[in-house]
Order: sequence, then structure tokens, then C-alpha cells
Amino acid sequence: METTDLPVICPVCGVAQEAATSLSELQRPKPGSLMLCFDCGSFNFLADDYSLRIPTPEEQQGIDADPEVRRIKRAWGKIKAMRDNAN
Ligand SMILES: [Zn+2]
Repeated sequence: METTDLPVICPVCGVAQEAATSLSELQRPKPGSLMLCFDCGSFNFLADDYSLRIPTPEEQQGIDADPEVRRIKRAWGKIKAMRDNAN
């Protein structure tokens, strides 16, 4: 995994993120990369201007049907539960 400085604001929850970590690819995020917000668990695309954009309904259907996304969402849910219990 590789972490990259990438200041973005989640378009769903509004939380500012400072960096991105690649989960399955050894490459820096680029326009079109699918990004997970670690605060709210939403998946958004990195736009050409390196902001985040919410997927279209059609894109969201594809995201929701992706087995890798489902695996990542389950892992994120467990991490979030541990974080919530620690606070
Ligand atoms: Zn978010």
C-alpha cells in the first residue's frame, strides 16, 4: 500500500481528508480513481481537477455490485465500529 498526500473534501460528509492510501494498486490516485471516505464510508471518484465527485446513479450501481468494493466496505465497517467503541 502507498499513501499519497491528497487534500480533498468528501462531497458526502464534508470532512477534509489529507491523504489517500491505495488498497489494491501500487499507484498514485489519478482522475477516475475510486476513493473511499474513511469518515462516512462513501465511495467517490477523483475528478480531473483532483476534487471528489459523487458517482452518478448508474456508476453507483456498478460500485455497489463490485465484490472488491463490498469487501472494502465490510472492512471499513469493522474499523469504524472499533473506532466508535474506542471513543
Ligand atoms: Zn465522507
